[in-house]
Amino acid sequence: MVLLLVAGMLSACDDVPDVGVVEALYADPAERVEMHRLAAGRTFGGILSAALSGNEQASLLLAFREQADPRSMRPGAEIAFRWVGGSPERLRGVDVSLNSDETVRLTRGDFGWRSSLIRTPVWVDTIYASGTIENSLWASVVAGGNLDQVPYADRSKLLLQLDKVFQWQIDLVRQIRPGDFYRFAFERSVRPDGTMRTGHVLSAELINRARPYYAVWFDPNDDGVGTYYDLEGRSVRRAFLRSPIELRHRISSGFTRSRFHPVLQRWRAHQGVDFAATTGTPVQATGSGRIVKRGANGSYGNMVEIQHANGFTTRYAHLSRFASGLSVGRSVEQGDVIGYVGRTGLVTGPHLHYEMHIHGQPKDPMSIELPAGDPVPGDQRTLWDARLAERVVLLERMPVPWEIELAVKTRAESLASSRGGQE
Ligand SMILES: [Zn+2]
Repeated sequence: MVLLLVAGMLSACDDVPDVGVVEALYADPAERVEMHRLAAGRTFGGILSAALSGNEQASLLLAFREQADPRSMRPGAEIAFRWVGGSPERLRGVDVSLNSDETVRLTRGDFGWRSSLIRTPVWVDTIYASGTIENSLWASVVAGGNLDQVPYADRSKLLLQLDKVFQWQIDLVRQIRPGDFYRFAFERSVRPDGTMRTGHVLSAELINRARPYYAVWFDPNDDGVGTYYDLEGRSVRRAFLRSPIELRHRISSGFTRSRFHPVLQRWRAHQGVDFAATTGTPVQATGSGRIVKRGANGSYGNMVEIQHANGFTTRYAHLSRFASGLSVGRSVEQGDVIGYVGRTGLVTGPHLHYEMHIHGQPKDPMSIELPAGDPVPGDQRTLWDARLAERVVLLERMPVPWEIELAVKTRAESLASSRGGQE
C-alpha cells in the first residue's frame, strides 16, 4: 500500500518516466482468531484434532516440544487458532499461552510447523514507600494513598514481604503502634499491565516506639539467593520462625480490626501457644529439622513433632491433615508446610497448638531469645559495605518526620548514658 502511494506520486511528476505497472502487493490477509481454553481432563492434542489432520498434529506437537512439554500445560491455558482465507479456511498459526509471561507461537511453514517462544517483556523498577502509622501498618501500606501506582493485590504482597523480613524483630499485627514510622525500598519486575512478577525488599526501616529496626538485602552473587542483615551486618533471621502460621492467614479476615488477636495467650495453662486459625490453614515448620513424630497422639490429635539442631524440638497439634509425602525421618526446611489446622484431639474449636522444647524443657516460643543466623561472612565484608551504602541511600531518599528523628536520637542518647553509667 505504501509502495502504491509512492508510485502514484512519482507518475504525477512530469520529469519522471512512467514506472509502468506496479507489481501487486500482498498485505497480510485478514485473520480470524478462535480462542480455546484447556479444560480439566482435556489435552492440547485433543483440541488440535478438531482443526488438523493426524500428520499435521504430529508436526505441530514436535515443534511445540522444542519450547515446552505439552503435558505440563495446565487447565485454563489459552490456545488461539489463527485462521486465514475464505472457503476453506486455512490454519496458519497457533499461539499457546504457557503462563502470564510466556507464549509459544506456532506457525505453518513450507516444511511443516515451526515454533518460537515469546516472552512478555518485563521491566524492573523500585518502589519507595514511607509513612507514619495512624492505625495499622496494613491500613498505611495497603489502603493508604501513597502507593497509588501499585495494584492493590501487589501492595498486600509488599506487606507480607515486610512481615517475612521483620518477623523476628517485631510482630507487625500486635506490636505496631500509632506514631510508628516505616520506610522501605522494594525492587520488583513488572509486566506491561502493571502487575508485579517478582519482587523483594531491598532495604527497610521500621521505628517502633522510638526503637529503630533495619533490614538490608544482601545476595553476594546477585542471583536472588541471599538474606537480610541489620546495619552492622548481623543476620535478622533466626533459626525459628516466630509463627507457624503465615501472616497472610493470620490476617485473612481483618488486619485493621485492632480487636483481632491471632494468638490466644494461654501459655501458662498448658505449656504451648494457641493460634486461632480456620480449619485447613497451612501450618509451616518454624525451623529446619527432621520429622520424629507424625500421627494421632491422644489429646493432641493429629500431631507433627520436629527435631532441630541444638536440642530444640517443636510440636504442631490438632491438625486436620498432614502435608503429603512427609513421613517420619524426612527432613524439612524452615517454612515448609507440614500440615493443616484442624480440631482433632481434645479441643473445643479449630486452632493450632504449638510447642517448643529445649532439651525436653517446654519454653514459650513467643518470648525466648531465638538463636541468630550467621552474620555477613568475613570474605564478603567489602562487598557488603558497598551494598549497604547503596541501599541505605535508597531509604534516605524518603524524609523522616523530625519528631521521629528526635525520638530515636533521644533514645539512642539515653541508651548511651545508661551504658556509660554501668561501666
Ligand atoms: Zn493449646
